Amino acid sequence: MAPMSAPAGNDRPFLNRRLAAFGTTIFAEMSALAARTGSINLGQGFPDTDGPAEIAEAASRAVLAGLGNQYPPGAGVPELRTAIAAHQQRFYGLSYDPDTEVLVTAGATEAIAAALLALLEPGDEVIALEPFYDSYAACIAMAGAVRVPLTLRAPDFRPDLDALRDAITPRTRLLLLNTPHNPTGTVLTPAELAGIAELAVRHDLLVITDEVYEHLVFEGSHTPLASLPGMRERTVTISSAGKTYSFTGWKVGWITSTPELVTAVRSVKQFLTYVSSGPFQYAVAEALGLPDSYYEGLRADLAAKRDLLSDGLAAAGFQVYRPQGTYFVTTDIAPLGESDGIAFCRALPERCGVVAIPNQVFYDDKSAGATQVRWAFCKKTEVLREAVDRLRRLA
Ligand SMILES: *Cc1c(COP(=O)(O)O)cnc(C)c1O
Repeated sequence: MAPMSAPAGNDRPFLNRRLAAFGTTIFAEMSALAARTGSINLGQGFPDTDGPAEIAEAASRAVLAGLGNQYPPGAGVPELRTAIAAHQQRFYGLSYDPDTEVLVTAGATEAIAAALLALLEPGDEVIALEPFYDSYAACIAMAGAVRVPLTLRAPDFRPDLDALRDAITPRTRLLLLNTPHNPTGTVLTPAELAGIAELAVRHDLLVITDEVYEHLVFEGSHTPLASLPGMRERTVTISSAGKTYSFTGWKVGWITSTPELVTAVRSVKQFLTYVSSGPFQYAVAEALGLPDSYYEGLRADLAAKRDLLSDGLAAAGFQVYRPQGTYFVTTDIAPLGESDGIAFCRALPERCGVVAIPNQVFYDDKSAGATQVRWAFCKKTEVLREAVDRLRRLA
């Protein structure tokens, strides 16, 4: 029951002011709409096929062998921390000490929350690439900090380094990056990363970089920001098993950073979940050691799906911004005579039985994203073919 003092029309009278501006996530609304209308759900970014059977078997073996069924160590099980460090060395030549420079988290989501809560004082400014991943703005708000968008604009969605330079003030504490970038599919180039790194060093900023799509780059390759000069000591790198191994429900994520930064993040993490996903940690330790052919196969499979969906969307009349990485393709609905992505996505299930996500909800600058709609292609080929068939009705 609402307290007497609750303002009329407020359906969440107990929610604090820091979070009152954040409604229910768009994914809940759109997934419910998909279920109600029997639509193909290209909204939420989860694969409709599980990851490798041998890794699922490793998880079940761990449960039956009693590995991780009780609280694992706070930093994560040693096998997984060692495998994470070995992965950073193998793919990027970055060396991290598994004991002091790696922390296992409840997915990248907890890593993002714990890092922001650990590193920010109330009033600090955080510059983040806009459109923002769903949880960034909310976590910055939980920390009492202020978000400052660096807007990625159509058609290229490249970061404007002059705009970044102008956005830095004496209150700026941290840059929050995401590459490969959800939802635009932008993969930051070495030159862009170098420009960002130079500003971070010059202004002595911390950087959190969300690299959960590190293995889903279709053009060029992924460069971790921490590999640039001067960056390792100021960068918290975040990744996760969810997207790389197609087990988004396992919620095994991690950070790699300096001992001091890891200690700070761990100090918060211990009071959020303490620990999580015990047996899955052992399975992810095995997954990280999968041969190169696994990673190449994953990338090739998703690149083909990107092309299938992108071509279908173009045929249906959308302007398509073909992504360089991630699970998602962003389109513009203006060529279809549409001007409001939210209204378009709410009506789409009735019109043709497909669900997508309006990018506008990820922007502070609503005009920048008003006509953008995001589609997930991490789905079975036959599901994408059917979606493309249905979308043809729009043309
Ligand atoms: C999916 C996603 C996450 C969340 O990862 P989990 O490991 O599932 O918590 C974080 N950042 C981005 C950009 C994502 O797309």
